[in-house]
Amino acid sequence: MEKCIFCMVARGEMSAKMVFENEHVVAFDDIAPQAPVHTLVIPRTHYASMSDSVPVDVLSAVFAAVPEVAAIKGVSDSGYRVIVNNGVDANQTVGHLHVHILGGREMSHGMVNFEGK
Ligand code: 5GP
Ligand code: ZN
Repeated sequence: MEKCIFCMVARGEMSAKMVFENEHVVAFDDIAPQAPVHTLVIPRTHYASMSDSVPVDVLSAVFAAVPEVAAIKGVSDSGYRVIVNNGVDANQTVGHLHVHILGGREMSHGMVNFEGK
């Protein structure tokens, strides 16, 4: 996907604060962090979302990277929240599968906020 911003990050064509990478995935800090630690893990290959027939090896690689990224960011022991926004109702804003890792502070008890909708 030529114009996908996360594909561009993965190809090194758009700058990002890289945290971790291997042959399957790239992890980089979110541009608008919602917690002291807010890092995204993406597959190098473009999949629009979890609903895009993602091969199990790609899903494995993405989720296997999560604890590695958490360790690099220093939140393995303190804990962290892992979120995947998938599609319209989840307010997914970037159409390249990504996992959010949020930590560095205590999270809210509720996992969802309907913002009065
Ligand atoms: P979503 O809402 O799709 O689950 O999450 C997309 C995330 O990507 C948002 O948290 C947003 O701040 C982040 N983001 C959007 N554009 C960029 C970018 O160009 N660079 C980085 N590092 N993060 C981005
Ligand atoms: Zn992409």
